[in-house]
This record gives sequence, C-alpha cells and structure tokens, in this order.
Amino acid sequence: MDNLKNKIREVQDWPKKGINFKDITTLLQDKDTFKKIVDSLAEFFKDEKIDKVVGIDARGFLIASPLAYKLNAGLVIVRKPGKLPFSTIQQEYTLEYGKDVLQMHTDAISRGEKVILIDDLIATGGTAMATCNLIEKLGGKVAGVGCIIDLPFLSGSKKLKDKGYEVKSLISYDSE
Ligand code: AMP
Repeated sequence: MDNLKNKIREVQDWPKKGINFKDITTLLQDKDTFKKIVDSLAEFFKDEKIDKVVGIDARGFLIASPLAYKLNAGLVIVRKPGKLPFSTIQQEYTLEYGKDVLQMHTDAISRGEKVILIDDLIATGGTAMATCNLIEKLGGKVAGVGCIIDLPFLSGSKKLKDKGYEVKSLISYDSE
C-alpha cells in the first residue's frame, strides 16, 4: 500500500509546531483511492459478521460510513461533547497536553453486538482506546480497530494490541 503513501498530503507544523499532519483529504478526493481504502478495510472484516461500525469524530466518519454500508452493518458515531442530541455515555482520555472527552448515544450499541471502530489515524491510541471503552460499557464486543494510517513509533497500536484488540491499518510510518 506504499503507493497510498505518495497520495497523502503531509503538512508540517499543523495544527501546531512539531506535528507532521497526515491529511487524508487527498486520498478521499481521488475516486480510485477512496474505493481502494474502503474495499481494503472491508476485506479485513468481511467474514466477521460485524453488527456495527463505529466512526470516530470527525475523519473517522468518512471511512466508517461507506465501510458500514459495504459490510452490511449499522453505523454508530462517537463525538466530541455537546454534539449528540439524545442521552449519552462518555469517556475521558488523556491528550499530550490535557484531557478530552468522547460521547456515544446510550442506545447506539446493544449487548453482545460485534463492533469494529474506525479512525483515519492511530497515534498514541488514546482516542481508539476511549472508544473501545465506550463500546464495552454498552456491552458491545470489539472485533477490531481499523485505520488508514498507523504511527507505531507512538505506540498506540501496540497498546491496543496488548489489550487484546486486533488492529488493522493500511499504511504505517516509521517516524514523523
Ligand atoms: P491518538 O488518540 O493519539 O491516537 O490520536 C488519533 C487522533 O488524532 C485521530 O483522530 C487522528 O485524526 C488525530 N491525529 C493524531 N495525530 C495526527 C497526525 N499526525 N496527522 C493527522 N491526524 C492526527
């Protein structure tokens, strides 16, 4: 999948100094690449009878939606606080500086459902881990974590694997 790498736009020092931002809009706006991404992620999970695909706010939504459609699964969204209209459960998680919170509707997942979560990129893994916690609080079973990009040097995917979660990515970088 290294040719996917050539299509990612890297923006140095955005949104702040020291971050090499991986901009996936250049992948999505290319029809063949967009299709390849969704099809490749679907391939990982196609035999698993997934009930729900959870998309993480906001770029995760863009991949989770067509993936849910393709896997014949329901779509669930996990959002930053104050965006979901119905009753929610929430999970706090640690960022490099400070904390953040993710929320999910209380009726988004039913007990025993097989669930995968999707984001564009895994860095420290905090966002994905918080989402796994939300899924499990509602009784869902996490069948995997899917992303386009893994940054293994930040150890997020390792943390998730150590907890027993299967992590599937299409591209990985050895350094910033
Ligand atoms: P983390 O919780 O540290 O794994 O961070 C993952 C979340 O932050 C994902 O939702 C990504 O969209 C975003 N993110 C973190 N680092 C980057 C990066 N270098 N480029 C693009 N998005 C990033």
